[in-house]
Amino acid sequence: MTREQAIRKRDRLAAQLSAASGVLRGSLLQRTLRHSSGCLKCARGEGHPLWVLTVGYPGGKTRQVSLRPLQVPQVRKALQHYRDFKQTLEAISELNQFLLRLDREDFKDQEREA
Ligand SMILES: [Zn+2]
Repeated sequence: MTREQAIRKRDRLAAQLSAASGVLRGSLLQRTLRHSSGCLKCARGEGHPLWVLTVGYPGGKTRQVSLRPLQVPQVRKALQHYRDFKQTLEAISELNQFLLRLDREDFKDQEREA
């Protein structure tokens, strides 16, 4: 890969990060809520599905946000967006590392000529 190819690829990837406002970190879990008495659904063993967004923080802390069923598709999309965003950011960093190494070789030649 040439320097120009790396720069073009990096800038194309960076343009994809313009939609950062849609990102959401965490995992989507489905739990089942069960009433101990007085609920026909739970008496039949069905229970009530409950969606929870769990987000981990440094130090092992976790925050949980319970969701309305209608929020689930939107949350799923935002979680995927976060993963894509992170992957793109990582790819840009790798390209910049590649460019850094190319620069290092150029500087070495310049130092030799000087
Ligand atoms: Zn119930």
